Amino acid sequence: MSELSELYQQVILDHNKKPRNFRKLETANYTAEGYNPLCGDHLTVYLNLEDDLVREVGFEGSGCAISKAAASMMTQAIKGKSKEQAENLFKEFHSMVTGELDAETEENSLGNLKIFAGVREFPVRVKCATLPWHTMHAALNQQEQVSTE
Ligand code: ZN
Repeated sequence: MSELSELYQQVILDHNKKPRNFRKLETANYTAEGYNPLCGDHLTVYLNLEDDLVREVGFEGSGCAISKAAASMMTQAIKGKSKEQAENLFKEFHSMVTGELDAETEENSLGNLKIFAGVREFPVRVKCATLPWHTMHAALNQQEQVSTE
């Protein structure tokens, strides 16, 4: 097993066991619900934006380990970011897991989200990993529900 996939497994397991920001946000002013019918992942993303900055973020729901870990890491990645930076991360993450962006050689701001690069080898899992991001994007654009199909 390569070093990256070993790291990937560890991080997924850790975030699945202890998801960060796993709570409903009472102060949310942007909320959306996302559903991935292929796998059954279902989650709600809560955002509190002030002056165009993501002040607080939370999520709740149920799904497979990959969707949960991706949601947990998404909340960490966008906290404190501007709406534009959050949208940009969504674009980069999406390009990486669909194989359009090589996060190792091309410039990006993905940081530790790079461990999800391996997901592109498993097309069915791409939707699990991107669901939290699609849901966050929907919330920012005041769309209440999003489905990956
Ligand atoms: Zn899933």
